[in-house]
Amino acid sequence: MLLFPASGRKVLPNALISGCRGCFPALPPDHPPGIIPGMGTLDQGKHDAASLTTPVQFLPGVGPRRAPLLERLGLRAAADVLFFFPRDYQDMTQLRAIVDLEEGKLQTVRGAVEEFELRGIGPGRSVLGVLIRSECGGHLRAIWFNQPFMRDKFARGRRVMLSGKPRRNGLFWEMSHPLVTQLADDETEPEGRILPAYPLTEGLQQWHVRRIVRGVLETHVGLLDEVFPDDYLAAHDLWPLVRALPAIHFPDSWEDLERARRRFVYQELFVLQLGLAIRRQRQRVNGQAPPMEVSAKIDARIRRRFPFELTEDQHRAIAEISADMARPVPMNRLLQGDVGSGKTIVAVYAMLAAVAHGYQAALMAPTEVLARQHALTLKRLLAGSQVQLCPLVGGLSPAARRDALASIAAGQVDLVVGTQAILQEDVVFAKLGLVVIDEQHKFGVRQRAALKQAALDPHYLVMTATPIPRTVTMTLFGDLDVSTLRASPPGRQKVHTYLAGDDQRDRWWDFFRRKLREGRQGYVVVPLVEESETIAAVSLDETYESLVNGPLEAFRVGLIHGRMTSDEKDAAMADFRSGEFQVLVSTSVVEVGIDVPNATLMTIENAERFGLAQLHQLRGRISRGRTPGYCAVFARTDSEEALERLKAFASTTDGFRLAEVDFTLRGPGELFGTRQHGLPPFRVADLLRDTEFLEEARRDAMALVAADPGLADARHAKLRRQMLARYGTVLELGDVG
Ligand code: ADP
Ligand code: MG
Repeated sequence: MLLFPASGRKVLPNALISGCRGCFPALPPDHPPGIIPGMGTLDQGKHDAASLTTPVQFLPGVGPRRAPLLERLGLRAAADVLFFFPRDYQDMTQLRAIVDLEEGKLQTVRGAVEEFELRGIGPGRSVLGVLIRSECGGHLRAIWFNQPFMRDKFARGRRVMLSGKPRRNGLFWEMSHPLVTQLADDETEPEGRILPAYPLTEGLQQWHVRRIVRGVLETHVGLLDEVFPDDYLAAHDLWPLVRALPAIHFPDSWEDLERARRRFVYQELFVLQLGLAIRRQRQRVNGQAPPMEVSAKIDARIRRRFPFELTEDQHRAIAEISADMARPVPMNRLLQGDVGSGKTIVAVYAMLAAVAHGYQAALMAPTEVLARQHALTLKRLLAGSQVQLCPLVGGLSPAARRDALASIAAGQVDLVVGTQAILQEDVVFAKLGLVVIDEQHKFGVRQRAALKQAALDPHYLVMTATPIPRTVTMTLFGDLDVSTLRASPPGRQKVHTYLAGDDQRDRWWDFFRRKLREGRQGYVVVPLVEESETIAAVSLDETYESLVNGPLEAFRVGLIHGRMTSDEKDAAMADFRSGEFQVLVSTSVVEVGIDVPNATLMTIENAERFGLAQLHQLRGRISRGRTPGYCAVFARTDSEEALERLKAFASTTDGFRLAEVDFTLRGPGELFGTRQHGLPPFRVADLLRDTEFLEEARRDAMALVAADPGLADARHAKLRRQMLARYGTVLELGDVG
């Protein structure tokens, strides 16, 4: 039997389907009518035989039978087809005759199917072998493991192209898991070219789509309207649409493809940046906030309260914030700093500056536990001062709460500390001048807009300990100013992190106990397990029981989790803070912000269930004092991604570095899903690889908006129209122009 190799070599699935030089996401099924989903604008004026709005059914090569298939891909009109970007390309410049094949290099062979067979080789396992007779003579064998559905792609005599890295196996050249392209019987694809590979749907072959796209390009490209003025294109080295569009479908070279792609990526990012720039400018122009210039006297009065010298970064952040608050427009600033970098004190400065000017300030935390801690910190810092502080947290009696709200409304309270529930409730401030939002990273353009309406024009300071890659701050947070605390306060000790196996548990607990006896404290963190889950994760109660009856028998161990009442949580935290508890067993409620400097030990169970950012946050709990921290991470997983994450976690304590790793491992979509933030997804741009274009687009957009505020110039009308169609609603720019 010719088809199968003698030995069943193991092949990594998909390992050979590489060579993707430019992958575009598929077209989202819905897009607003009246604008072409990609990049052009409809020229409503031209309506001859060929029109951009021609339904696909009437395009050459489509007809009533194929039209529904195209519609399934989101293609309804001619314009949709023009902007149906390939998801990949096939390198026909590497088209080879069998005799010319070279081992291990990505090459393409064209021929007809001579034989094929699917064979079961065990439960759920199969191997498909296909023998191709090349048009230039000679045979090639292709094999697929465990992809029985691939069989449907082949029929005896059908013409196909296979792209992959061939290997010599006995008599034959062989490709494992090559990329397959169906060819029409009469199709002579031009050689020496790069062919597009489009997303397909059942019943539609690659060559159908290629033909349809090629046809529409010929008849319709001329109808498209360029959105950029000519001199803009020239000045920014961008290809015009009429040149870029054909080239992104059927490029003459890889260089041309890059040029064409550059045009579309730039445009996509530029249009978003225009929206952000206009929004930012409008806030400057329209928003009115109380100017609060910090005099030397106020500055000295505030700083006198601080128990330590500020770091350089803290000084700088404070200077940036003071400059913002001195202006009569709302500050809109993001303060990002790694866990433990000392953001709180910077926020306290801003709040006291507001109070010094007779305004109220609100500090909001994501959890009740953290809100209480902030209240405590503020109380200590403000001991003996006139500043009136009001913690607005759960557990207040209805009467106490009513009183608190009344004093806030009457302006008798200066500082309000609570969870973000403050926003939802009908808290009325007499004179709100500053809102500080702590530990906010799942926070999009939309929500911020909602906040703005909650209270009229206070200054805003948003803080996050999740370092945000610059590409993301430039897009999702594009209208925020950013201050960064990179360095930790002096004397901060590093945390040693161990990715430990179950066989190291005894040694770890020996060590843990020794440190407890030296006077240190520690956390044991267990992921939240739903009762419905049947997986092998340990639950909080089980862990607690097994510890107090086992390794930590001789120690005082407390418990804290999200389902406890506020008072119970409060009591547990207080007991841990005071040292009454030496160990705190907890769910991730201690994740954000908790600050107990004497706690230097942490055990994390089932660490595979935590994300990288979350792990880093957790570890941040034990890097607060002047003694080094020790963190052991136990995991039960075979998942390669999880292991890679944990290895990265153990290898560095640099939060910015970890954020980059996370970004690479999970991709920007997962991490900072644009949808979740209210922005429509990018169609061409890829935040991971297009950083450079992003910087460029941002600079250019800011410059254009500075030169032509509101894009009122007629030459920019098309850009403005496209920007509004895509981002007008989400960025609330509806009434621009
Ligand atoms: P985070 O940025 O994670 O919110 P915190 O504001 O909670 O960090 O600060 C972490 C710890 O560092 C706190 O105990 C705080 O008092 C302390 N700290 C902050 N700034 C300094 C400094 N300049 N010098 C010494 N300790 C500092
Ligand atoms: Mg904090």
